[in-house]
Amino acid sequence: MAEIFDPKPPVKKGFVIEERILKAAARADEDCEAAFKEIDRIARRNGEKVLYAFVNNHVSAACMNGSSGYGYDDVGRDTLDKVFAAAVGAEDALVRHSIASGTAALTTALFGILRPGDKMVSLTGRPYDTLEEVIGLRRTTGGSLADFGIEYDQVELSPEGKPDVAEVFRKVKGAKLAYIQRSKGYSLRPSLTVADIAEIIKAAKNASPDIIVMVDNCYGEFVETSEPTEAGADLIVGSLIKNPGGGIARTGGYIAGKKALVELCSYRLTCPGVGREAGASLDENRSMYQGLFMAPEVVANALKTAEFTSAVMSRLGFECFPAAGTRRGDIITAVLLKNPENLIAFCRGIQAGSPVDSFVTPEPWDMPGYDDQVIMAAGTFNNGASIELSADGPIREPYAAYVQGGLTYATGRMGVLCGLQEMFEKGCLKLF
Ligand SMILES: *Cc1c(COP(=O)(O)O)cnc(C)c1O
Repeated sequence: MAEIFDPKPPVKKGFVIEERILKAAARADEDCEAAFKEIDRIARRNGEKVLYAFVNNHVSAACMNGSSGYGYDDVGRDTLDKVFAAAVGAEDALVRHSIASGTAALTTALFGILRPGDKMVSLTGRPYDTLEEVIGLRRTTGGSLADFGIEYDQVELSPEGKPDVAEVFRKVKGAKLAYIQRSKGYSLRPSLTVADIAEIIKAAKNASPDIIVMVDNCYGEFVETSEPTEAGADLIVGSLIKNPGGGIARTGGYIAGKKALVELCSYRLTCPGVGREAGASLDENRSMYQGLFMAPEVVANALKTAEFTSAVMSRLGFECFPAAGTRRGDIITAVLLKNPENLIAFCRGIQAGSPVDSFVTPEPWDMPGYDDQVIMAAGTFNNGASIELSADGPIREPYAAYVQGGLTYATGRMGVLCGLQEMFEKGCLKLF
């Protein structure tokens, strides 16, 4: 009788990693020591800040319960807004599982504040890909800011990734909103530090004291001991399946900043007149609270994974941005893998070293909104969550893999080693 079902997964006693890769990893561990100390220092400060936000706002057991229907008098939801605001040094915040993504949170804020005839100016060059359709830089679907008569302009970044202050001064005049993107997104520019952001804000407000400064804070939360809201930004916006969800929040986004602006955004989030009074939290409060509580530590693990990635990949001949031992403004590491074979093998290995769907083989595909094919490794608990270890990149020069996340350092480090092992097995690594 033929066996039609093999109930056992292939039996292996543990990960098999080439000796010379392990040697490079051990040297990379030594390279990382000073950086890890600093990461731990930042995590401790942020952990204390988050704990105090819980204590000072009297988070109670009742806050963990959700609401249904209109969600009136949802004490868990309303308290979470206050706790989150305190954790990022803002006057007020909206934290909602019902915000579909980071882009949806940014869109809610832009439409909440801008009116026909207003001008928005990006101070950090062309914004993240998904914002192009929101602003109306790329016409596909309807309903962009441009459709509503909102003008757009941008200040280009220098090759070092800094905006020209004179240009900022000139272009913010007459604009209602200045937009700053903290993270590099899919580019090789350095991500901005909070100090960089403070400097840009100063220039913008010198030229135009009433300008509203909004920061796309994606991937930046808890990377430093302060947030852009503590450096002059009027509004920060981000995703809960990145840093501030701590890997626990199942979906959602946030908007935090000046009270009056957050209120305007609440009318766009639900409707004018209702704002934040409605919006059932269902059963998501507990995971959003717990995620925020975990976030400083989880971000530290992602930063350690990032630092290890830069250290070990550069030891094996692949340039990384940022380089090991340099300042990080977010949790992303771009690894220049030089050719498509290397990029595909590395992403497949990362997938093989992921806790979920490790047995799946990622293929390059035609992702909506991209001209080139894209390969993505994301063996994650929450669909598409990039606070969990993930690696992706367009199949084009310079064949860069963008690596981010790692809920725990041990698993993030091993995921990267699995990426290297797959490259080795495919003949993509020169080892000495
Ligand atoms: C992730 C990200 C966004 C939002 O992306 P979503 O996939 O919609 O959550 C926006 N800006 C930057 C810089 C990002 O990294």
